[in-house]
Amino acid sequence: MIDAGERPIFSPEHHAFRDTVRRFLDAEIAPHLDAHEAAGVVERATWEKAGAAGLLCPQVPPAYGGLGLDFAFNAIVGEEISYLGSAVGFTLQSDIVADYLVHYASEEQRHRFLPGMVAGTTISAIAMTEPDAGSDLQGIGTIARRDGNGWRLSGSKTYITNGQSADLIIVVARSTEQGGARGLSLFLVEAGDKGFSRGRNLDKIGLHANDTSELFFDDVPLPGDRLLGAEHGGFAMLMSQLPQERLSIAVQSQASAQRAFDEAVRFTADRQAFGRRIIDFQNSRFVLAGLKARLQVGWAHLDWAIARHVAGKLGPVEASAAKLWHSEMQWEACDAALQLHGGAGYMNEYPIARLWRDARVSRIYGGTSEIMKELIGRSLG
Ligand SMILES: Cc1cc2nc3c(=O)[nH]c(=O)nc-3n(C[C@H](O)[C@H](O)[C@H](O)COP(=O)(O)OP(=O)(O)OC[C@H]3O[C@@H](n4cnc5c(N)ncnc54)[C@H](O)[C@@H]3O)c2cc1C
Repeated sequence: MIDAGERPIFSPEHHAFRDTVRRFLDAEIAPHLDAHEAAGVVERATWEKAGAAGLLCPQVPPAYGGLGLDFAFNAIVGEEISYLGSAVGFTLQSDIVADYLVHYASEEQRHRFLPGMVAGTTISAIAMTEPDAGSDLQGIGTIARRDGNGWRLSGSKTYITNGQSADLIIVVARSTEQGGARGLSLFLVEAGDKGFSRGRNLDKIGLHANDTSELFFDDVPLPGDRLLGAEHGGFAMLMSQLPQERLSIAVQSQASAQRAFDEAVRFTADRQAFGRRIIDFQNSRFVLAGLKARLQVGWAHLDWAIARHVAGKLGPVEASAAKLWHSEMQWEACDAALQLHGGAGYMNEYPIARLWRDARVSRIYGGTSEIMKELIGRSLG
């Protein structure tokens, strides 16, 4: 269990919320982890139960159906889901998509979409990546051409989280024929829009409970009220949302690493070889001691970053550094913890197998580790 009791960034309200989150996950997610993985998706009824329990989009203001809480509440949900080892896409909805709507949507758009996202009756996604444009978003080819008061959207996206289930998708598209960052805009596409279709649920190494898809836009007519934020202002909006997106991944990475460590301690204290417990070998102790030290530093750093973000001060370079460090640490922790399990670690019946599979993507999505280093490096002068 994550030891949150001594973490000063959390108030009694945060602790009470964590209890609610744990009760929900124990009852509604933990018993179904394998079923969700087999289905490749978490069913809508679970999203609606999560909404009813108050787990979705904690930051959304009360005027739009939410509780108007701070990001530390989002972090609690992210930590607990990741510690459990579930791949449900709640955090993408709460930490990323809802935040775009809160910051950039018109009043009409907020009233239209946010209450459903809070309730879990609307599942959402954000589609930036394309078959030919991932790290380099300036290469986006999906285009929205003016058509009267609205647009017509054409192109395709790939690797989109919640892609099979999403009712609402923020699509990043080029809104002028010119290339580069200045011509990008954000559009709200709904599941029933004419010309919108989805590919298959993509077959991934891990995160099996999370649906991930290609999306296709075949001359989709979009009325004027589907533009999100300023026309041609897409790149600036993407950049200003990055701190929360990257912090969200850092939160999940840290909690997953803690679970991997806890599993390794439990396993090695239980299993024997050469007449001793595995944990009694010096190598096991050294590996675990090294991880414990990194986890301790990691929690302190994460709490600093969460508090700084809640205060509105976390910058994009700091968030990139957090994502880089915590996701790399997650991978090293999961890999070392699996090794300490021996052959059992390679068996899907042990939690470490799922943690290890799911960890691999943290260094890739939300910006790869190499891109994080580029961004940090560029800030150095
Ligand atoms: C499970 C999963 C879920 C995802 N969910 C979403 C989602 O919901 N929405 C969404 O829009 N996208 C999503 N993505 C896409 C993800 O964000 C991209 O895969 C990621 O940003 C990398 O882009 P790419 O795959 O095109 O790799 P590329 O950009 O082609 O990179 C290939 C390699 O080149 C390296 N590289 C690229 N540029 C540089 C450089 N300048 N310097 C050094 N190295 C470089 C990269 O680090 C990488 O190692 C998801 C991906 C996965 C796997």
